[in-house]
Amino acid sequence: MSGAPSAGQQNGSKSDVTDYIGYMDATDGRPTGQQMSMRDGRTWWFDSGSLSIDFAYTGAMDGPGSETLHAASDLAAWLIGRFPEVADGTSERDLIDARALRGSLARAAIARSRGTEIHSDDVDVINLFAATPDIAPSLLGGTRQAGRSRAKASQALSVMAREAIELFAANPTDRIRQCAADDCELVFYDESRSNNRRWCSMQRCGNRAKVRAHRERTASDSAG
Ligand SMILES: [Zn+2]
Repeated sequence: MSGAPSAGQQNGSKSDVTDYIGYMDATDGRPTGQQMSMRDGRTWWFDSGSLSIDFAYTGAMDGPGSETLHAASDLAAWLIGRFPEVADGTSERDLIDARALRGSLARAAIARSRGTEIHSDDVDVINLFAATPDIAPSLLGGTRQAGRSRAKASQALSVMAREAIELFAANPTDRIRQCAADDCELVFYDESRSNNRRWCSMQRCGNRAKVRAHRERTASDSAG
């Protein structure tokens, strides 16, 4: 009889399974995280876990940091660090668009971190950017592996808008949270499998909490 599974297949032999062909989608392999500057000049590394929230932190979020995208060239530098295919530079128009999207991403991330609704105007802006062409996914294994094809700044903005839609629409939404420190309002997307990230960064609030816990332990030891 044909069609009956062989003993090998029953035992989990994979000899007849087609090799998986990898592909890259628009957000695959793109680094997240950036250097953040406090108003007093101190800097530290903050990885929000998401391209779109990282982008919001270039100048649209409350708290530490202020505007870092002063000119179209600043936007180009930020984008090229994550989207190397954006090689043609950016225009003043791109900068205006980018700031508009960024403001909506920032307000949406804050709303989500507080468990509140995203304002309909911001939903409209994010949807508008997501509706433009993003950067095409690509199968790996072709003859042109040197790099991705060239893209415009607007395509990179679209990638971030689409990523934001995925994150903000996710259910449950509790992966977008504020740092657990009382005096820190930084918002991140928790990409860990266990969903147990607490701090904006270990170097900053995580460390402060450890030091405080240690001090309290030492105090109670000497008291007892
Ligand atoms: Zn923090």
